[in-house]
Amino acid sequence: MRPLSVFLLGFALAGAALAAAQVPANAPLAEQILQQLININSTDAMGTTVAATAMRQRLLDAGFAPVDVVLVGANPKKQNMVARLRGSGQRQPILLIGHLDVVEARRVDWTTDPFHLVIKDGYFYGRGTQDMKDGDANFMAALIRLKREGYHGDRDIILALTAAEEGGTDNGVDWLVHNRRDLINAAFVLNADGGGVTSINGKPMFLAVDASEKLYADFQLSTTNPGGHSSLPVPDNAIYHLANALHRVQQFQFPFELNSVTRGFFTARAKLESGRRAADERAILATPPDSAAIARLSKDPELNATMRTTCVATRLSAGDANNALPQNAEAIVNCRILPGHPALDIQKQLEAIVADPKIKIRYMRDDGQMFDQAPGGAPARPVELSPDVMGPISQLAKQLWSGLPVIPDMATGASDGKYTNAAGLPTYAVSGVQIDENDVRAQGRDERLGVASFDRGTEFQYRLLRLLTQM
Ligand SMILES: [Zn+2]
Repeated sequence: MRPLSVFLLGFALAGAALAAAQVPANAPLAEQILQQLININSTDAMGTTVAATAMRQRLLDAGFAPVDVVLVGANPKKQNMVARLRGSGQRQPILLIGHLDVVEARRVDWTTDPFHLVIKDGYFYGRGTQDMKDGDANFMAALIRLKREGYHGDRDIILALTAAEEGGTDNGVDWLVHNRRDLINAAFVLNADGGGVTSINGKPMFLAVDASEKLYADFQLSTTNPGGHSSLPVPDNAIYHLANALHRVQQFQFPFELNSVTRGFFTARAKLESGRRAADERAILATPPDSAAIARLSKDPELNATMRTTCVATRLSAGDANNALPQNAEAIVNCRILPGHPALDIQKQLEAIVADPKIKIRYMRDDGQMFDQAPGGAPARPVELSPDVMGPISQLAKQLWSGLPVIPDMATGASDGKYTNAAGLPTYAVSGVQIDENDVRAQGRDERLGVASFDRGTEFQYRLLRLLTQM
């Protein structure tokens, strides 16, 4: 889950008053599931199998057939649960994904025990209350409620609760798309690990739907040199070569480019903002886009990252001794690539930007392995925002939050959606959980979530699944 920027602080408040408090019928169930999940430590060291088994048992108890609720995965400690609520099969299924693992939390850093759900001052406290056992519990509660109601939609709903999104080996979604595609094939994917309602001082401002993700790629820039004694310097110096190369990367700006998602993002924002900012956001949507407006908006790091691929130096090492000419110098340049561009294209561009045959540029995979060439295969295209998905979300924003604006967004970070998008399953990160802009505690200490916010998310999830499974 990523926090949205603080861009709203300058807004005129959008007048989206909370609808009258609605406690969903399955709130106690969702809260029990949340408590059960929080109380199970599912950090990388502990694995996800205990949590996956517990969720499977709940679905069996609710009447799901054993064949429709399976535990799968490469690692016995990191099992993934995949369940299917059957519909008529008129349309292709929907896949829901949520990761069960959480990042480590130390008791000494916290006010409460991070692996024991505590309710205090109207909040649930515990590791995973924001990222993302809240979303897992709401998926589970919605499925169980639909099952108990005997609901029969026009398509199956598949739920995958998975391992190792936060790091570590054996990522569950990656494993499923490569080994059990049959279990998870779907028309599209809903991921509760992103998007959601952002509020300021408790006042809901907008509901974000992350409908696209940038591609992550690390490149190593390196150079070697015979070296020599530092009392006899020569112009051909490994550190100067690398420093010049990095300087050229710093000076270079990748071209401005919008896709259907980021166009939707700027269109929605232009309506929410005012003055020069709103005018600039409209101006970059024009054909041709206004270059002065692009330049002004590019000064905001988040907007800049939304409008173009970015590459930045993140690590550096060089030299062997204070009194020796350097024999080697290397740096890591981290790129966040707009959807639709292969990493290999960016590698070629970096070579052209650096324009120094003494600098070798290699691709470093997530596991640290080096390759002369980055992957050049067909990268994930930007998701085309489907009215079949966005329509129901907007409808619920009206019903549950008195007409809250819905903003499509491109995540500049990455979630498990990168695996489903890459596998050709268009993925929308969305949730009805509300988090205050200055209370984002995902992966932090004293992680917490408002009880009322969670309950609203429970109802949102249930209603959304109903709307998406009937013509
Ligand atoms: Zn997460």
